Amino acid sequence: MVGDSEALKRLESYDMDDLVIATLCSHTSLQIFDGARKEGFKTLGISIGPPSKYYDAFPNARPDEFLVVDNHVDILSKADELCAKNAILIPHGSFVEYLGPDNFENLTVPTFGNRKVLKWESSRIKEREWLEGAGIKMPRLFTKPEEIDRPVVVKFDGAKGGRGFFIVKDYEEFNKVGPTQRYTIQEYVLGTRYYLHYFFSPLKEEGYRLSNGSLELLSIDRRDETNIDEMYKLGSQEELKKLDLYPSFVVTGNVPLTIRESLLAEVFNMGEKVVEKSFDLFGGIIGPFCLETIVNDKLEFKVFEVSARIVAGTNPFISGSPYSDFIEPNLSTGRRIAQEINIACELDRLDEILS
Ligand code: AMP
Repeated sequence: MVGDSEALKRLESYDMDDLVIATLCSHTSLQIFDGARKEGFKTLGISIGPPSKYYDAFPNARPDEFLVVDNHVDILSKADELCAKNAILIPHGSFVEYLGPDNFENLTVPTFGNRKVLKWESSRIKEREWLEGAGIKMPRLFTKPEEIDRPVVVKFDGAKGGRGFFIVKDYEEFNKVGPTQRYTIQEYVLGTRYYLHYFFSPLKEEGYRLSNGSLELLSIDRRDETNIDEMYKLGSQEELKKLDLYPSFVVTGNVPLTIRESLLAEVFNMGEKVVEKSFDLFGGIIGPFCLETIVNDKLEFKVFEVSARIVAGTNPFISGSPYSDFIEPNLSTGRRIAQEINIACELDRLDEILS
């Protein structure tokens, strides 16, 4: 059991034969609605302002119903209405980000996953405590700029989606940039990026077993990042700096990918450690999560971030991926979430996967 929150208590009045899968219209919502429908659920899209017309273009992924609010915080006042409709909320990156982790924690609607994870992923300090405590290798942290002895990435506090990062190669360059906001300095890891999409099920009893439950790898992507991914076409970074052009990491899309098969053992090993540590720290992560990794030419992984919910990098895999196909055909992460809710209903264990 994840907890006995206000939200969970509300399940007592739910009609279990008429559950509705709800999420905020954005990010991975098309995938979540499509997956829920394939698993037999009704769907509800929470829209800020009138629903975007592009939902009409995708009939399988258009929610059955929209709940229109003026702004993100207004969702808090809609808790009763959502519960009256037997809604289960599916958190995604934009949902948590725009509502804010604190507001999200106070939303008294049954929500997929363990909300306690939000505190651990939204703070860089706690995230490092979790990952390093699990035995995961992360990029070295520089506590003082004077210690910079290699290329580093300076991350402003609260920077998200790759905005608010800059790369410096030494202390002198750091001083030239002279950051004015609070920041973290991390070693710049040279290598290729793999965003590993896992799913942890506390209910499943077969597959890659952990001390409790099973771990799946559903897909892998790499983000398209502007302008860093394309700026080489204009010239070297050093040359471009003279024109005041600096690389940015703003995410614009996602590319599907597979990894060398021999690296899969470590991929599972890392996922396992992260889940096992989460049991000790906050009662366990549930459902989808992503490790954002860089592999160097010695084939070693470094993890620079964990996202503890469905990530947009799963969007290319609506009809499955080269990994989820080995589990079952047509298994997107959105569908896997709905499937877990179905399994929990059958086993009468919904309180173990919701909070
Ligand atoms: P994040 O917001 O932490 O997901 O990072 C945004 C992007 O910055 C990543 O997708 C990477 O391209 C890059 N990045 C972040 N941290 C590092 C690092 N330590 N070394 C190299 N690249 C990084």
